[in-house]
Amino acid sequence: MRNKRSDIHSPKSIEPRDYGFITVVYDGSDAELTLEVGDNKRMLWNLMETNGWKHGKNYSAGSCYCCGARANYRGAFLHTPTDEVVYFGEACMAKVETGRKSVFDAMRKRVKNAREYRRGKAKAAATLQDLSISIDMKEVDRVRSIPSGRYSEEDQVTFYYSREEMAELIAPGVPTHLAFRHKDTARTITDMMNNLVKYGSWSEKQIKYFRFLVESFTNFDSDSLAKGEAARKEDLAKVTVEDGRQVVDGKIKSIKEPDSYDRFPSRKMLVVREDGWKFWGTFPSALSGAEVGDAVSFSATITVKETGFGFFSRPTKATMV
Ligand SMILES: [Zn+2]
Repeated sequence: MRNKRSDIHSPKSIEPRDYGFITVVYDGSDAELTLEVGDNKRMLWNLMETNGWKHGKNYSAGSCYCCGARANYRGAFLHTPTDEVVYFGEACMAKVETGRKSVFDAMRKRVKNAREYRRGKAKAAATLQDLSISIDMKEVDRVRSIPSGRYSEEDQVTFYYSREEMAELIAPGVPTHLAFRHKDTARTITDMMNNLVKYGSWSEKQIKYFRFLVESFTNFDSDSLAKGEAARKEDLAKVTVEDGRQVVDGKIKSIKEPDSYDRFPSRKMLVVREDGWKFWGTFPSALSGAEVGDAVSFSATITVKETGFGFFSRPTKATMV
């Protein structure tokens, strides 16, 4: 009988000043989620091990050591006279410690988000199965997160990888720029997967693009990429571009802000035409509101550098299309 209890944590005997708040833990039936959502429990175990704290005896019939109520979310406290860790539900916690509601709320929110993410992941997996798309996400993750360096315990310094070294980690024996393209593919796949988990579905266009990405990622090897590269160059070569004054219609692919170390700092842009040719030059002031992705048109003097790429200068009559 609860009201017969007279142990130190019972409602009758509890001494608020003897308890120090540690953290909030979650013990619901899907408690393994907590490992995904914040790891408060592991933090608690570490603290207990480091400080030699033991769990106190629970004299109540429930999960709150004080009133015995059942509670999935509990505050963990150190009972300072005994160095024992005990747990209180939110109501009893308010008796010994005020102002901790936000910690409970934050934990509830983390659990809620983790549940949503798990449901989203399951749904995303089902969507991929419906579309008969299979992809090795472990390999995608590995390629996407190739580190830019490594820390040496012995020398206490970080060694940064060169582009070539990173390329070797991504895909051994593959030309550097191709390896980095593979990494970009992995990153885009991950972004799209995250969107699918978050929003639950893709548009037809996105499905088509995702298939293309998976195909490129899965069939990645030096030969097929080199072949693709050659085919792309061939396509570009089919269109001849002469040096001289001409109209350029295309989309802004990237914008580079002025670099103050330059001798003549100015804003630059890369414009890509529908046929794949790219042109790099000074951002026309008439396009001041334009952003990456905007379609533009202007006249300029073109100097071809290589197949598919040239510089433009003295742009005039620039407009957004
Ligand atoms: Zn209680």
